[in-house]
Amino acid sequence: MAREYPLEKVRNIGVIAHIDAGKTTVSERILFYTGISHKIGEVHEGDTVMDWMEQERERGITITAAATTAYWTPTTAGSDASQKIKINLIDTPGHIDFTIEVKRSLRVLDGAVVVFDGVAGVEPQSETNWRYADDYNVPRICFINKLDRLGASFDRSFESILERLSPNAVKMQIPDGHEDKFTGVVDLLSMKFVQFEGQKGENVAYKDIPEDLKALAEKERAILIEKIVETDDQAMQKYLDGKEINPDQLKIILRNAVIAGKIYPVFCGSALKNKGVQLVLDAVAWYLPAPIDIPPTTGTDDKGNSVAVEAKDEAPFRALAFKVATDPFVGQLTFFRVYSGVLSAGSYVLNTRTGQQERIGRIVRLHANQREDIKEIDAGGIAAAVGLKATKTGDTLCDPDNPIILMGIDAPEPVISLRIEPKTKADQEKMGIALRKLSDEDPTFRIKGDEETGEIIISGMGELHLEVLVDRMRREFSVEANTGRPQVAYKETISNEAQAEGKYIRQSGGRGQYGHVWLKVEPLERGKGYEFVDAIKGGAIPQEFIPATEKGVREALDKGILAGFPVVDMKVTLYDGSYHDVDSSEMAFKIAGSMALQEAAKRAKPLILEPIMKVEIITPEVTLGETTGDLASRRGQIMSIEDRNPLNLKIIDARVPLSEMFGYATTLRSLTQGRGTFTMEFDHYEPVPQNIAQQIIEGKK
Ligand code: GDP
Repeated sequence: MAREYPLEKVRNIGVIAHIDAGKTTVSERILFYTGISHKIGEVHEGDTVMDWMEQERERGITITAAATTAYWTPTTAGSDASQKIKINLIDTPGHIDFTIEVKRSLRVLDGAVVVFDGVAGVEPQSETNWRYADDYNVPRICFINKLDRLGASFDRSFESILERLSPNAVKMQIPDGHEDKFTGVVDLLSMKFVQFEGQKGENVAYKDIPEDLKALAEKERAILIEKIVETDDQAMQKYLDGKEINPDQLKIILRNAVIAGKIYPVFCGSALKNKGVQLVLDAVAWYLPAPIDIPPTTGTDDKGNSVAVEAKDEAPFRALAFKVATDPFVGQLTFFRVYSGVLSAGSYVLNTRTGQQERIGRIVRLHANQREDIKEIDAGGIAAAVGLKATKTGDTLCDPDNPIILMGIDAPEPVISLRIEPKTKADQEKMGIALRKLSDEDPTFRIKGDEETGEIIISGMGELHLEVLVDRMRREFSVEANTGRPQVAYKETISNEAQAEGKYIRQSGGRGQYGHVWLKVEPLERGKGYEFVDAIKGGAIPQEFIPATEKGVREALDKGILAGFPVVDMKVTLYDGSYHDVDSSEMAFKIAGSMALQEAAKRAKPLILEPIMKVEIITPEVTLGETTGDLASRRGQIMSIEDRNPLNLKIIDARVPLSEMFGYATTLRSLTQGRGTFTMEFDHYEPVPQNIAQQIIEGKK
């Protein structure tokens, strides 16, 4: 079958933003103007098209990344239907507790539109997201939104992008007026004044630049042109020779520069007031890359060789599952991005993590308000498979004859956990299924059963993360549960080498028990996990009992030494022991292994480790003293304090133990009269001070 759409006209993009900057509203407008959604939904009315999950509507934040497909023909003069693009819009969350969702979407995006609030400019989360986009080399265009708001300033917001994100940002437009006098934008490339007419701003009208803006427009255009030609030697020469470079050529040079990450074009408008979004869509067409414009992704084949996966239909099928979601109508949807090849409904794919094949029964594409069954999806495309059972986020799906593992998505370790208990017997049965489904969707959400108490412990990336998951369990799976207090996910480790013996011998009458081992434990570097070495010589313990010994060791590690937290960063060597021909059993060696480990670890100066968060706080200068004083009382370590002019704000970069950060949002608000904001992400694990370790051991913390 022929391709449904030329690859060079496909754009896989996402809108990324600080929470509340207007990502949802911009996405809404994109879907409206692309003609898919027929009515504009406002966030505050709770009827937006993208936020199809009920509870997202209530919270007004987008939690789940859903991919939506739309089509767009640029409005710029001279454009025609042959320039129509297909946009796969991947929704990304702005809240830092959902980092993995942002990363997961960045992994499969080819370009992004970064939205800023025109009053606040660059905010802490915009910076975090920008850095993630840098890590994944995602080309970006910027949209300064909310120019209609009181106190909005295009120039100030633009300056904050230059200062805090990249010196390579460049103005593509200037606004005519601000707040309620914001009427339209001057497009500096075509030197036209653009207004958005009609009830919903649907008619894009290109006009002459108003007299009072002409001089400024000329000045800003000169800066833009210079920025563009600087990225291309030939054009630079022409420019220096005083020759005119026509707008079409400029667009091509700019496109190459944006794709190479050398320029970040900046647009502006007001999504709410229906101004400017169409020109952002034009920019998506002109400047953001198609799948063939970016370097091929890489994978590892079954022989361990690195393979470049080029976006081509006539190559083996290779795709990455980037999102598992439960759809209220069709059940489980696995969103995947095809890197190469073509997939037809009804065929089989290999999941390289499980080694199993799964049949792709149905392939669906999601539009703003409908699902479309498609027979085929080709290279560069994004779609969802219905009913895959064993595929998780981050898995590679590929042609069974050409196995490959694509670079997956690293899930950060969860740092917070809480006990959860079903309210009734009926809830108990459903809770297991619900938790499993939710953890398949989200690799940063983990479930663990406490064998002794029978309780279930769930862990995740932050208080809000777990709150949202418990809420989803209630709504989507009708499971009512009681939850305990959020607990920091402490860990344990050792700080010395030690050796110990484990003996489990019962030989009084009948068949006895005989397990006997010697273990050595040594600390490993932070983050190295656990390593088991079998150094048994001369058959002191028969081979068959070694896995059982290791099992005992692992169980003991899970149970912890000091306070019941899992033990990490430790090497365990099994180097001696003895056995009995008749009485030895796997069970006896498992117990001996467990006993030896506990004893050795106790002798090896055990420690408790706690998660340390990287916290960035923005506070007015006048409350800097109170804010830093409060951080000190939370055992915070201040790394740097920077000025954020011209707003007289200070940015504090600090490292603070997670256990000291509960309820911080409220404290900061009262310390700064509501003007302070902060973001927080996991940084590393560190030993807790002795006095606090004691409180943790006594269960007081
Ligand atoms: P998100 O959190 O980034 O998805 O932001 P939303 O799209 O939910 O917008 C947050 C709030 O800002 C909502 O109340 C919107 O109505 C409002 N908003 C979005 N865009 C604009 C805009 O251009 N101007 C004004 N004044 N408000 C806006």
